[in-house]
Amino acid sequence: MVAEKSNEQTNKEDKLDVLKSTQIVIHKALERLGYPEEVYELLKEPLRMLTVKIPVRMDDGSVKIFTGYRAQHNDSVGPTKGGIRFHPNVTEKEVKALSIWMSLKCGIVDLPYGGGKGGIVCDPREMSFRELERLSRGYVRAISQIVGPTKDIPAPDVFTNSQIMAWMMDEYSRIDEFNSPGFITGKPLVLGGSHGRESATAKGVTICIHEAAKKCGIELQGAKVVVQGFGNAGSYLAKFMHDAGAVVVGISDAYGGLYDPKGLDIDYLLDRRDSFGTVTKLFNNTITNKELLELECDILVPAAIENQITEENAHNIRAKIVVEAANGPTTIQGTQILTERGILLVPDVLASAGGVTVSYFEWVQNNQGYYWTEEEVEEKLEKVMVKSFNTVYETSQNRRVDMRLAAYMVGTRKMAEASRFRGWI
Ligand code: NAD
Repeated sequence: MVAEKSNEQTNKEDKLDVLKSTQIVIHKALERLGYPEEVYELLKEPLRMLTVKIPVRMDDGSVKIFTGYRAQHNDSVGPTKGGIRFHPNVTEKEVKALSIWMSLKCGIVDLPYGGGKGGIVCDPREMSFRELERLSRGYVRAISQIVGPTKDIPAPDVFTNSQIMAWMMDEYSRIDEFNSPGFITGKPLVLGGSHGRESATAKGVTICIHEAAKKCGIELQGAKVVVQGFGNAGSYLAKFMHDAGAVVVGISDAYGGLYDPKGLDIDYLLDRRDSFGTVTKLFNNTITNKELLELECDILVPAAIENQITEENAHNIRAKIVVEAANGPTTIQGTQILTERGILLVPDVLASAGGVTVSYFEWVQNNQGYYWTEEEVEEKLEKVMVKSFNTVYETSQNRRVDMRLAAYMVGTRKMAEASRFRGWI
């Protein structure tokens, strides 16, 4: 009985293991594309994974040792690229999976990059500004040998922002003895950031929602939208949906959700949320995140964390379209259930690729030293996202596979080809 229970437990943990589930879908995608097993062996894990210890002098005089990671999944196409996450739950496995997703995103939107990702196990909500600065600079010193504008280019992710990118860029420029804006993206505008970077992920998700709604015959004007997560991705997305005439009936953060069938006052909530994307603490009348995900709506956007739609709640999802702004919010079993129920699922590696696309634009502008207007950035992003959505959608229709598998097929092809041309496989 005990052994049986622990098997069940292991089975459950496997289903929520983001690295394992990514590997399963990559394997399927490569099989469908007819690649031999060694291509899978090459792509199933990052080429390089660096673990570092970062000593930081805290404000009270003590020294705390933080653990950080940098994964470089595959650099056959070009330098690796991907954000840095500051979060207490960061693990080596998660960083590896995130770096693979970055490779897939770069393949899908056709950027000259492979995927990378970094993370530090810490809770920035409990650290002072100066402690965060020392940690950010310490991390750059620790990984400086393997990163750089033509090697591996970091960016923001969960709980990191343009200020942290600025400190990191400054630290790298000191080590490099050169002003190196192309070392990192997501910087403030005055330090070589790009117009539109801050809201790029949400813009990309919005473009995918427009395209998906067209395919499903849903009019955005008046459509009911639910967004889980009210940070960088979720809050801008809620705003863009509201501006497009949709009715945002539900939003949430780590502490709960808000629901109003007549539509929430998004501008007010944006005004009141803190820099960590928290707003629901200000209200008494909240619902749980579980209830939020199961609200009746036309479009559901998970924009918070992993493993939110699983075999346990996928049957209860009452949306017509699910568009993943977060990385890994739906498990393999969740994807299968939604697909069987006829719900169109636009996967993370496609829907949230707007962030890395504008990061690429930022890097290009840094390299050429000539900067674009907001309109130019938006126009270029729109073209990339519409084309990428339709490539994945058509692959899914032609090959009779769900959008996630189609996206993985599109996303792996360029890497596999580049690795072959280089003579690696
Ligand atoms: P963020 O830190 O700005 O916001 C995260 C939001 O999720 C906050 O509102 C937080 O309260 C909420 N949250 C945290 N734990 C939660 C929980 N258990 N239940 C419900 N809500 C919870 O992060 P972000 O940059 O908006 O990223 C959100 C997701 O989007 C992540 O999966 C990230 O990897 C992905 N993403 C972000 C970008 C980007 O450019 N910001 C790009 C691609 C993908």
